Amino acid sequence: MTAPHHPPTVVLAERLARAQSATRAAGLDALLISPGPDLRYLTGYDALPLERLTCLVLPADGDPRVVVPLLERPAAEASPLGDLGAELVAWGETEDPYALVASLLTRGDRVAVDNHMWAEKVLRLRAAMPGAEQHLAGAVLRELRIRKAPDEVEALRRAGAAIDRVHAQVPQWLRAGRTEREVGRDIADAILAEGHVTVDFVIVASGPNGASPHHEVSDRVIESGDPVVVDIGGTMPDGYCSDETRTYCVGEPPADFAAYYDVLLAAQKAACDHVAPGVSAESVDAAARQVIAAAGYGDFFVHRTGHGIGLETHEEPYIVGGNTEVLDAGMAFSIEPGIYLPGRHGARIEDIVVCGETGGERVNLRPRELVIL
Ligand code: ZN
Ligand code: ZN
Repeated sequence: MTAPHHPPTVVLAERLARAQSATRAAGLDALLISPGPDLRYLTGYDALPLERLTCLVLPADGDPRVVVPLLERPAAEASPLGDLGAELVAWGETEDPYALVASLLTRGDRVAVDNHMWAEKVLRLRAAMPGAEQHLAGAVLRELRIRKAPDEVEALRRAGAAIDRVHAQVPQWLRAGRTEREVGRDIADAILAEGHVTVDFVIVASGPNGASPHHEVSDRVIESGDPVVVDIGGTMPDGYCSDETRTYCVGEPPADFAAYYDVLLAAQKAACDHVAPGVSAESVDAAARQVIAAAGYGDFFVHRTGHGIGLETHEEPYIVGGNTEVLDAGMAFSIEPGIYLPGRHGARIEDIVVCGETGGERVNLRPRELVIL
C-alpha cells in the first residue's frame, strides 16, 4: 500500500482552524500564504511557485479563500483544496491579483505573509494595502508545524527508511578510482528509485573535501585510504524530507582519522540520548559538543548540532547554542555533529530524531560505526 500524498480533509480543516485561532491570538487580521511548505501544510495544495500570484487568504475570522490564476484553477480544484471547500477566486491575465487579495479582506490592518513569499509579491501586496502592517506568518505557523502529529512522524519514518535503503547501497559504488561526481550520480538515481520524488542534495566529500561540511561533489578521484562523508536527502511524495549522513573509508583509515571517529560516534550518541521533552535545544547541542571538546577536537566542530525537519529539510527547532526552546513530544530534528581537520579529512554522523513522550527516537537506523570498504 502506498502512503497518501496528503493528509485527510478533516486534518487539513483542523490545521486551518488552529491557524485561525493562532492568528486571532497574535492580534493579526489575516494570513496571506503563497505556494510553499506553509500552503502545503495548511491546505495540502502543492502549488508550483510561479510569477503569477496564488495566495491563500486566511482571515482571523471567516472563511478561507484562495486566489489563483485562472489557468491554475483546474490544478487547484484537483488538489485537496477541492474537497476542503475553500472558495477559489480565479483571476484573469489582465486583472490585478494583489488588489483582489486586498478586496477579500474586511479587516486588513495587520496581515502576515508566509516567510518564504517572494519579495516582489510582498512589495506588491504592500502597495495594494498601503495602510497594512506586514508581519511574518512564521511566528504563528511555527507553533503548529514544530510539533509533528503522529501521521507526520510516520511520514518521517518512511522518509528515514527510504534514505536508509540508499545508504545500504553506497558501499557498492564507493571505490578507489571513481570520482565523487560518478558516485553522486549513482546515489541520486537510488534516492529516486527508493521512493523520493526529488533529490534535494548529494554530498560525497572524499579525503580533504570531507573537511568542508557543505562540499557537494567534485571531479576528485577517490583514493585508497580516503575517508568519505556521504550526506544525502530527498523529498517523499507526501512532502516530508529525508537527511542522513554516514562516513565511510575506502581502505584502511589514516591513524589521525581513526583517532577521532570514535569520539564523534560517542558525541552523536550522547546528544541522541539527551533528547527528551523538557530539555532545551541548546542542551542537546552541548551534549555533543562536550564530548568532542573533552577529546581536544572542539575547534574542529564548526557548525550547530542540528536542524528541524519536516516539510522542509531545514526548519525549526534549530539545535544550537543560544536556542533555549524547550523540546516537546513531536519535535523532529537532525543530530549531526562533525569533526573537520582542514586540508586532511572530516567525518559527520547524522540521524533524524523525533522527540517522543520519554526520549528520542531515531528514524535512521543504518549502522553508525565506521564502514571500511
Ligand atoms: Zn545532512
Ligand atoms: Zn542535516
